[in-house]
Amino acid sequence: MKILAGVYEQVVKRNPGEPEFHQAVKEVLESLEPVAERHPEYVKAGIFDRIVEPERQIIFRVPWVDDAGTVHVNRGFRVQFNSAIGPYKGGLRFHPSVNLGIIKFLGFEQIFKNSLTTLPMGGGKGGSDFDPKGKSDMEIMRFCQSFMAELSRHVGPDTDVPAGDIGVGAREIGYMFGMYKKLRNEFTGVLTGKGIPYGGSLVRTQATGYGLCYFVEEALKAKGLSFEGKTVVISGSGNVAIYAAEKAQQLGARVVALNDSNGYIYDENGINLDTVKLIKEIQRGRISDYIKHHPHAKYTGGSRGIWTIPCDIALPCATQNELNGEDAEILIKNGCIAVGEGANMPSTPDAIDLFLKNNVIFAPGKAANAGGVATSGLEMSQNSQRLSWSFEEVDEKLKGIMKSIYKNSSEAAAEYGEPDNLVLGANIAGFKKVASAMYAQGVV
Ligand code: NDP
Repeated sequence: MKILAGVYEQVVKRNPGEPEFHQAVKEVLESLEPVAERHPEYVKAGIFDRIVEPERQIIFRVPWVDDAGTVHVNRGFRVQFNSAIGPYKGGLRFHPSVNLGIIKFLGFEQIFKNSLTTLPMGGGKGGSDFDPKGKSDMEIMRFCQSFMAELSRHVGPDTDVPAGDIGVGAREIGYMFGMYKKLRNEFTGVLTGKGIPYGGSLVRTQATGYGLCYFVEEALKAKGLSFEGKTVVISGSGNVAIYAAEKAQQLGARVVALNDSNGYIYDENGINLDTVKLIKEIQRGRISDYIKHHPHAKYTGGSRGIWTIPCDIALPCATQNELNGEDAEILIKNGCIAVGEGANMPSTPDAIDLFLKNNVIFAPGKAANAGGVATSGLEMSQNSQRLSWSFEEVDEKLKGIMKSIYKNSSEAAAEYGEPDNLVLGANIAGFKKVASAMYAQGVV
């Protein structure tokens, strides 16, 4: 980095102790260096200095009472990062690891991802260090209500429209929507990922995982390849992982492994997804329960290890920095031809370098997992028109969006001289629209 080095230094100085945020900013600024060279007017207008600073950061207390009557206090966050092209949009994450730096990295990524979808959505992200694991439904409800009691002041259908992320699914969205409606006395599409009976969109549940496979399929197609007959390893066993596995299977692949933070399962016959859905979506159990249903499968404890399983295609769908350089070396040695990121920033920078140097097709999260927020955008459109589209209609739109994200990213990569570098292409293609909107709107 030359022109943008100062911007990065300022980010590190101004946001101490936030390594994930620094990592996300560094990757994007490195990609944008040639754009800064071609567009001195953006440098002069301070576009780069402004895009790395959130428009607003909200931190609040979330007190709640457990079933035994004990009071707990968690911390809530909403980072409204950039509204140049539309209302802030991005998920809420409930996980004990959540802190301001994590929310800022996710919100920053979201700016470019949302721009790539071609829909008018700005970037934001939020969440809490609350741990939903092991909590009763009533505890989850009380927490969500307390969280929304404060968040409701800062969001709205034309201002900021949150959605789900790790630890926030249809149940949590339902409790938060109920509280928002009660406090504001209005029925509006303030959240996406809602249940179908009260304004949710068909395909939203499947969208991130399906979209990931549509994107990877496009990237494979460009090299004369496809999912058909391939062996696939997927990390995670939550919303994104389950529906990535479902679509990969529908496209003819054999998905052999999934994990959670305790360990991974390996089923050489191909994972039975009905069992996984039962365990994860209904019983809210652990992936280790899989072997009770399928004793021939193997369970290995520990949070690492899943990337040692030989595969053609790897889809990291759990969390940030879950796939490092060592894992990348093993995947490459085992003949992996493509890596598609369902999670946000799951691959470390050294892992990405190795994939790019070894000609592994690499589909970066901000492009490849944009299907979730794209379908959230479609949910917003249906809510404001008071319409409900069919599953097939939404799925078709999702497929079209993923194809155009691939096309725009690969064209931008080619325009800047590295046709196979989708990291570069996605960062540049996502940035262009936001930058020209910020430029047109003046210094605000
Ligand atoms: P879920 O909460 O449904 O599932 C998360 C999964 O990842 C669980 O299996 C969880 O295991 C595992 N996981 C979480 N943290 C860790 C960890 N530290 N180590 C190992 N495994 C871990 O979340 P989602 O499926 O919605 O999200 C997964 C990823 O996809 C996240 O990075 C998210 O930001 C990203 N994403 C999600 C979108 C969506 O629409 N939901 C859209 C775009 C991106 P355990 O139960 O043990 O915690």
